[in-house]
Amino acid sequence: MDLRLLSRPQAVAGSTVPGRIPADVIAASEWKEDLQEGLMKVLLASPRGFCAGVNMAIECLDEAIRRVGPEIYVYHEIVHNKYVVDRFTGQGVKFVNSLEEVPVGGILLFSAHGVSPEIRRIARSRKLQTVDATCPLVTKVHLEAIRYANQGYNIILIGHEGHDEVIGTMGEAPESITLVETSDDVNRLPFTQDDKLAYLTQTTLSVEEANAVIQALRKRYPNIDSPRKEDICYATTNRQEAVKMLVESADVLIVLGSQNSSNSRRLMEMGAARGVPSYLVDGAGELKREWFSEAQTVAVTAGASAPEIVVQECLEFLKTHFNARISEEVLREEHVHFAMPRELFSLQAPGSQVPASTEQT
Ligand code: SF4
Repeated sequence: MDLRLLSRPQAVAGSTVPGRIPADVIAASEWKEDLQEGLMKVLLASPRGFCAGVNMAIECLDEAIRRVGPEIYVYHEIVHNKYVVDRFTGQGVKFVNSLEEVPVGGILLFSAHGVSPEIRRIARSRKLQTVDATCPLVTKVHLEAIRYANQGYNIILIGHEGHDEVIGTMGEAPESITLVETSDDVNRLPFTQDDKLAYLTQTTLSVEEANAVIQALRKRYPNIDSPRKEDICYATTNRQEAVKMLVESADVLIVLGSQNSSNSRRLMEMGAARGVPSYLVDGAGELKREWFSEAQTVAVTAGASAPEIVVQECLEFLKTHFNARISEEVLREEHVHFAMPRELFSLQAPGSQVPASTEQT
């Protein structure tokens, strides 16, 4: 069991702040004046950007570099964000898709998305020093998969095929897990109502889309079991709720995040589904002035793996080109923090004595 799950603070969404609270309080009359003058109004979502799991994974890699230098390998991207990955690549960290690329005895960090037991086994066989930066909320889903599989359930995992997190979770009980993405997939499932079934979800799904699939599952399998606490994480939920609130009054939505970031894509799709032109960009360099030619109000947010610096660069772009005035709209405060894994603190530089195993499960 992951001890961080026991020691972490309450992984809850935090306190709700009633209504919208502009950070740099701007009176309604001022907004009116701005709009009359043709100034752009930017609604900046809060919460946005880094979640506790991403923060912890990045802190882990920074701390590992500080302790043993940059000769560190990371299995897949540490988080799905180009800016973050480029920063570490620039420091000398290597991101690999196969453990064959890691020299025997080398240092390997598992990313925030988690890995399957098979990857852990290969890492042990190559005597790698491993640091597990899996987000504890992803580990929670792994543990649920193991528990249900041990109890003889067939597990329906709602998620996106090929996503690192889904691959890792399915690897916990490959014989027992069936992946579905849509309600149509549910209709094609081979199980009957008499089968022992449970469902789990990827942590970064669209809450609305996942609920549609869950409804389809419950309709077809009224007795299906599920974990007491849902798997879509607090950060995903909060960022989606904030976007839902802001796009009601926005002409354009900008989401800072990488194309392969699941939770960032969901934010962009939410805006588009509500008829608001929505763009997912890695940074200000990808913004096009024509996107804003008709826009008086622009909503800006960032996926859970996008750093604040790219948000600030985007705001600078809008201020410079459109005289934008910024109002931070606080839906909810977040106070979640995850501790770094203990094995990080016993790393030894490559070439020095390698411990038999530093892995935690
Ligand atoms: Fe963890 Fe959620 Fe962040 Fe993923 S998005 S790393 S599950 S807190």
